[in-house]
This record gives sequence, structure tokens and C-alpha cells, in this order.
Amino acid sequence: MQDLLKNLKDEIENKIKAVKDDVVLENLRVEYLGRKGKFTEALKSIKKLQAEEKPLIGKLANEIKLEIEHIFNETKNILAGAGQEKNNKIYDTSLPGQPVTLSGLHPITKIIYDLNDVFRSLNFEIYEGNELSNEKEVFDDLNFPPGHPARESMDTYWLKQSEKNCGVDRLCLRPHLTGASVQYMRTHQPPFQFVYPGRVFRLEATDAGHERCFYQYEALIVNKDFAFSAGKIMINTILERVFGHPIETRMRAGFFPFVEPGFEIDMQCQVCHGHGCSVCKHNGWLEVMPGGAPHPNVLKAGGLDPKVWQGFYINVGLDRLAMMKYGIDDVRLMHSGDLRFLKQF
Ligand SMILES: [Zn+2]
Repeated sequence: MQDLLKNLKDEIENKIKAVKDDVVLENLRVEYLGRKGKFTEALKSIKKLQAEEKPLIGKLANEIKLEIEHIFNETKNILAGAGQEKNNKIYDTSLPGQPVTLSGLHPITKIIYDLNDVFRSLNFEIYEGNELSNEKEVFDDLNFPPGHPARESMDTYWLKQSEKNCGVDRLCLRPHLTGASVQYMRTHQPPFQFVYPGRVFRLEATDAGHERCFYQYEALIVNKDFAFSAGKIMINTILERVFGHPIETRMRAGFFPFVEPGFEIDMQCQVCHGHGCSVCKHNGWLEVMPGGAPHPNVLKAGGLDPKVWQGFYINVGLDRLAMMKYGIDDVRLMHSGDLRFLKQF
């Protein structure tokens, strides 16, 4: 019996020496120490021995069993350590690493930064306002009479819960930035000049030149004496700085309730250079900024005396400017989130 146990131990030791992975080791453990394993069966047969032999053989059997279990555990640890080392191994440090993906600025953001730079250098303040506005701010304060068709032409997104209210209690997503100018006038002492970049919302059908959500950039100067011609020079300077070369513009009379006189500034389409394309509706010119002098009623709404103060507005459509600058022929790409498009900037 003693010999049988010792032989089994030698047999196990020899087999374990050749083991290279833990699956084989586990199979070996089951083969010898499992419920029906060879060593377990040998232990069971001790019961059949004569009474005087049992204590001695039993003690020896337990010692051998502990030794075998120890060898199994040790081998298991060695194999686990080797696996770890294998995973941590650096194969070739001269191989190129994983490429790092760099993010970039959206073309609209770039245009905003460009314009902010220009206006800061011209001593303008950069102003910010809320996207959620109300009827008073976006229409009443800006000289839109009640029931004026221009209120409807803006196709405003009204908030459902407040739709039946009026004035400050009728909430909307701002359809333009101009409402914030009255807020600014109320809280600042003229003379002042500020610019105001932001996102606006209109409930309208989309096509290559129109989107439901787009960016505007507004500039307002309020002073006691401001020449319209100086405003035109400012517009040309801005466009030249943004595009890096002189841009042909034309100024024509335009009506907006919040300005008097009002005008529209067109720039030559930079996608087709005046030859006509889908972006400029084939007329070679693109309306980029309405503007004018603030209407006396707007100055009054801002708490200013129109007999003392006058001003100059422009409101730039940023998406169109970005389209012109980068030669983009569909405004819907701006909010598409398409990386193939965005990675080009
Ligand atoms: Zn064009």
C-alpha cells in the first residue's frame, strides 16, 4: 500500500513537470484527486486494511495528499504568473503607435472666432443671451405692431404651454438675436458697441439654403453721431478680414420693423463667383446681412431718447457666411454631424 501511494506521487510529479497550461493541469488534478481519481480511490482502499496498519498508512496517505495538493497549487500559480508576463510583453518598441484622433472646430465656430477677433480689435464687447425668449423681447420691443404679418413670417417655435398667453408670458425659441439688443440697452449706458453671436430657430422647410436652426451674428453701435457710410466701411472690413480678400458687396433698401432706415447687404456668391448656383438661387448674389439704424421705438423700448441717441445694426447669417468661406453648397451639412464633412475643416 505504501509503495502504491509513493508510486502515484512520483507519477503525478512527473506528469506535472510536463504541464504547460492550466487546462491540462486541471485535467490532471481531476484524474488523480477528483471524486473518482486514482489517488482518491487508493485512499478509499485504506478502509479495507487491517486495523493495526490503518493509523500508519492513513498518516502517510494524508502527508502525500497534502504534498500533491501543494505541488498542484504551486504549479497553478507559476502558470498564472507566466500568462501575465506573456500579456505584458512588449514585442517591438520600434513599431508605430496607435494614431491619435484630434478633434477640430466646427466651421461655424471658426467663423464666430474670426468675427470675434475682428470686433474685439474694433473695441466691441462680446455679448451673450438666452435661446429661450418671449413675445415681448422678440416682437413687441422691436416695433412689430400686434397682428403685423412679419410676426408670422418669422415662423416662430412657440412653447405649447404658454401659447395662449401674450407678452413676456408667451415663450418661444428666439427666431432672431435682435431682441437681446433692447435688453442690452436697458442695462448699459451709451455710447456702446457690442456683438452678439448665437443660435436661432425657425419653423420652416429645409433645402440647400435654409435650415430650422442656424447661427446669426449681430452687431449694434449706439452713439450720438454715427454715419451710415462708416457702417458700410465696417461691413467691408469685416468681410475682408473673414475671407482674407476684398468681397464685392451691394447695399439695397430693405424693410424691417426694428430699423429706420433699413437695408440689406448682399455679397457676391463665393461658391459660383457670381455666375449662379443653387446656393444663390442662380442670381450670383447672396443676402448675408440685414441692418439699418435702430427704429426710434426700439431705442425707446431700451430706455434711450431717440432724439439724443442713434445707432447702426447689422445681423450676419453665419451659416451662409461659412458656406461662402468654405465653398459649402448645402446648409444642411452644418448640423448633419457627418464626420466626413466635419473632418475637412
Ligand atoms: Zn452662387
